[in-house]
Amino acid sequence: MWRIILCIGMVACFKCSHKNPKTEIFFCQKCGIILPALIEDPYLIFSLKREYVINPNDVTKAYNQLQTKLHPDNFLGTDKVVELLATQQIMRIKHAYKVLLSPRLRSEFLLKQQGIIVNHDGNDTVKPAIELLTEIFAIKEQITEAEDQQEFRVYLQDKLAEIEQSLEQNFRLSDYKAAAQDTIRYSYFEKTLEDLL
Ligand SMILES: [Zn+2]
Repeated sequence: MWRIILCIGMVACFKCSHKNPKTEIFFCQKCGIILPALIEDPYLIFSLKREYVINPNDVTKAYNQLQTKLHPDNFLGTDKVVELLATQQIMRIKHAYKVLLSPRLRSEFLLKQQGIIVNHDGNDTVKPAIELLTEIFAIKEQITEAEDQQEFRVYLQDKLAEIEQSLEQNFRLSDYKAAAQDTIRYSYFEKTLEDLL
């Protein structure tokens, strides 16, 4: 029983079979070879505390360092498996970086850890409030009728900044229900802004 629990979240090395702890995610701690990209947690990948507020500059710095360290060119001419794993590691880092830098994706990830799923249609545990749908509908109508649609750009960007602040506060208070509503709200305003561009 204990054995099974201890194995969860560990990454086995394809070469020496050593079971690496999940904090060891790039290279095998025993033989040094590259590991398969099994861990998806962006906070683990970037060795960050699981908090909503992050420092984007620090994340970008860490991203660039990881990119250099794991660039597929560094593994050219080695084992085919190693080359493939290096490519997978780079793809995973790219995705993790995108998640961390997006207020919405980062929040969706953190909420998922609390068992709350939003913005994924089918299996959402929290749905958008009717007031939000009405609000968005009204804004879209105003945009359609406006002479200068670009004026709404600043308005929508301000809205997103406002929601981001609310997200920061709600995560600080561990109010995940409110953070879930913010995240849905963010997604609707983000989409409206994207449609405008
Ligand atoms: Zn190994």
